[in-house]
Amino acid sequence: MNYDVFYEILDYNKLHDRLDKIVHNPNNKFKVEECDDLGESSCGFPLKHYKIGKGKKHIIYFAGCHGNEIIGVDFITTLMHNLALGKGLFKNFKEDEYTIDFIPILNPEGFYTTTYALKSILNSSCKDLEKYCHDYFLAYKEDDLNVKNINDLLKDICKELNYLDKSEKIINKFWHYFKNYDYLTKNNILNYFKLYNVDHDKLRMILDDLIIKYFPSMNIPILKKHQMMLNNVSLNVIPSIDKNHQKLIDKLANIYKENLFPLSTLANFYANGNGVNLNDNNPYYYDIFKNRLEEEKDIYAKGRENNILISVKSPIGMPNYDMTKPFVYEKENVALFNFLTNLKNNNEYYLLFNCHGTGGLLYARCINNEEFSQKNIELANIYLDKIKEVYQKSNEDTIYNIMPKGNVITGVGDVLREEYPYAFLLELSKMGGNPIGPYGDKKNHYLTMVSNMEALMSILK
Ligand SMILES: [Zn+2]
Repeated sequence: MNYDVFYEILDYNKLHDRLDKIVHNPNNKFKVEECDDLGESSCGFPLKHYKIGKGKKHIIYFAGCHGNEIIGVDFITTLMHNLALGKGLFKNFKEDEYTIDFIPILNPEGFYTTTYALKSILNSSCKDLEKYCHDYFLAYKEDDLNVKNINDLLKDICKELNYLDKSEKIINKFWHYFKNYDYLTKNNILNYFKLYNVDHDKLRMILDDLIIKYFPSMNIPILKKHQMMLNNVSLNVIPSIDKNHQKLIDKLANIYKENLFPLSTLANFYANGNGVNLNDNNPYYYDIFKNRLEEEKDIYAKGRENNILISVKSPIGMPNYDMTKPFVYEKENVALFNFLTNLKNNNEYYLLFNCHGTGGLLYARCINNEEFSQKNIELANIYLDKIKEVYQKSNEDTIYNIMPKGNVITGVGDVLREEYPYAFLLELSKMGGNPIGPYGDKKNHYLTMVSNMEALMSILK
């Protein structure tokens, strides 16, 4: 397959070098134009915008809404590079019919934080990038499994003790209670249940069997291995090279000032500098989250990240900069919406890809707009068939799926899909483990890039 696929972990310098080279490549078959910035982040980082083609039908690619999903930024710039050169299927690109708009990073603050931190970790502890990333991918999966097993163990206890109606509260509180532990013992669990009015003799009797069921070695890990692999960082990894960087350092210092989060989260930073998650930053999720806050005081993330508090400004991010204030969209989202509204008003909007990190999924279904749903799924199937074909050519049986229909609008991706036809949210890599898990298998990384590039040409056709 005739494409250039980079294999590197991008960072501030590497990204800007890559973009510069793409724009000025003398071998470009299609001109890459650097457009006016879409806007800027709250620290003043520009929201860059490039385009290829001069047609009326605009196809918009944006990535990096979640700063830690670095593969999205990698993909968009790889696509730009290959399209500009007319590589592979792109030799047939109809530049008079289409314009492809590239917004490589919607959330520069989250992306720069993640990649500055990663750079320092990888410089100091990584000799073999693919192996390091694969170890991270495995640690991430193991952390997920440990959390699931402990939750199932707790559910079994609640069931045996006729306390099932309280199990959700018991589980949430459990993780808060043992937040600073690495491993648990039987006695830890017995002590915890003293907080509840349960049959303690019975608990003592059943606990050994239950622990063996989920943790045959009797070792119950609470620690987060994937976070430990990213742990050797501090705010010092971000250089104060200009006033935007200095503002970012100040904002991060504010988020981390009470030591609520492991420093490893700097290398896996979803939010923007205001501690807002740009996908959760919409009025629908704001309402849902506000209701939860009225019921629960502290809210933690789920699964392998359930030691990270999200009811305050955090690395994972809240729906609003301040949950006691009325809802506002962050500057990054406002810039994106303005751009899309303009295209729509000029009848130039055609299709968009909101590129996220992992899952191998396409969100194509709308919650309320059945007409768009039908159209989206038709096109999504063409896209996914091409992905399958590319993988099969390499003797891999990877299948990307269409996300099942949700019940309520929770993300900005959903908000866009209700209003714009073909507004896909693409979870790029079949591998899990943002930020570096997708780099733990070079071949898979290559196929992720090539299959998603060819799938674009498939739907244009
Ligand atoms: Zn995401």
